[in-house]
Amino acid sequence: MVWIKGAPPPEASDEDHIAFFEKVVSCSIPDADEDPELHEIVTSVHCHSKHHSRTCFKRRDDECRFGYPLPIATSTFVLRPLSAPRGVNEKKWKEKAAKIVKSVKDFVTETKDIESYSVKDVLAACNVTEDKYREALGALCRRDQLILKRDPSEVWVNFYCPKLIRFWNGNTDCQYIFNPHAVAKYCVSYTAKAEKEMGDLMRKAQYEARSGNMDAVEELRHLGDIYLTHRQVSIMEAIYRLTHMELKHFTREVIFIPVDDSSYR
Ligand SMILES: [Zn+2]
Repeated sequence: MVWIKGAPPPEASDEDHIAFFEKVVSCSIPDADEDPELHEIVTSVHCHSKHHSRTCFKRRDDECRFGYPLPIATSTFVLRPLSAPRGVNEKKWKEKAAKIVKSVKDFVTETKDIESYSVKDVLAACNVTEDKYREALGALCRRDQLILKRDPSEVWVNFYCPKLIRFWNGNTDCQYIFNPHAVAKYCVSYTAKAEKEMGDLMRKAQYEARSGNMDAVEELRHLGDIYLTHRQVSIMEAIYRLTHMELKHFTREVIFIPVDDSSYR
């Protein structure tokens, strides 16, 4: 995590947030002759694959969960969740919005010479104005987001901070967060990611066991098997186990002696 000096507080104006975001973050592909080092980093590790990855469709099979290809925009703006205008059916309004956003995504994905298109060209080809496109994005978003000025040729580039990735020489993930609670939530859920994934897996295993009519003992054995064979281990633990290094060491020997009345001795 990187703290940046001089970042505007959450209550700052949209203009301040936008000015800061544009100063720190970029989504353009650097010129290969002018800045070969940054060009190499961005094109090799900072572009989402056009073929996506296995985890992209973990939640929905018709939409990349990371949002790629990302929205195009002639200028950076704050996108806020919108509700249907008064008197308009919310469900139909959202379906229409999803169609607009999909048509733009399909166009930028399927057009071979997309580099020659401007944002206006793409929107005109999809028969939608930029205001309507932004409204459609607002209808589908769930939290405030900063949408960076982005050309159609840059829809696969993940945001990056040029100074940071030059120093890091690898992939980074930049997200602009307006809500301080979201920072705490992000940190906690990231720290507990392994536990959450294990929880999801166990829930699925339990569902499978119950729909397979297992009795209680079989179900417990099944859950135990899943837990023991799917536990995520850190790289350090994996190295220690594979090389048979000592994982723990005691200077005292401890022997457990059951002394309570009911135990079997
Ligand atoms: Zn994807």
